[in-house]
Amino acid sequence: MPTLKIVQTGDPVLRRQARALTPDELALSGMQFLIALMRDTMRDAPGVGLAAPQIGESLQLVVIEDPVEDLDRERVKVPFHVLVNPTLTIVGDEIVEAFEGCLSFAGFTMVVPRARRVKVEALNERGERVTIEASGWYARILQHEIDHLRGIVCCDRMDSRTLATAENHVRHWRTATVPEVKAAVALPMPDE
Ligand code: ZN
Repeated sequence: MPTLKIVQTGDPVLRRQARALTPDELALSGMQFLIALMRDTMRDAPGVGLAAPQIGESLQLVVIEDPVEDLDRERVKVPFHVLVNPTLTIVGDEIVEAFEGCLSFAGFTMVVPRARRVKVEALNERGERVTIEASGWYARILQHEIDHLRGIVCCDRMDSRTLATAENHVRHWRTATVPEVKAAVALPMPDE
């Protein structure tokens, strides 16, 4: 299957509030085909989530799939699934800082503080109501992707001093913890 072009930061579609889908629209074969295209585009990129605005469609539609397990980052495998018209609620007040990237910020990574736990209510691709309670990396993916539907991107929430190219991240910070990176890039004190 072909893949779709992923729009990059600066495209106005990434800054719009996406509109909700109706059940009738969701049932259309064209919409199911778009979901399959988004799935294949995400896998090809590769990425763990893709929101419709990232392929130029201002619709409340997200695909997610995480094949990686990394318990140091509280990351577990998440099977492919679709979220339509999602609402997200932060659960508790724990915040986790971690480096994340975005397919619409190709080649960059940055520390973004995110809630550790969230609850999401949405429809799936068949129009059935689903409720997700997530923590750790999956909660991060949900917050990142649902932000895209509100015109919010990761640089709006990042610790801006940690912004790095992926190449420099590997070169300088591959083995560093987030607190170590933050200390290393902290604003230098003025000369006394
Ligand atoms: Zn993104």
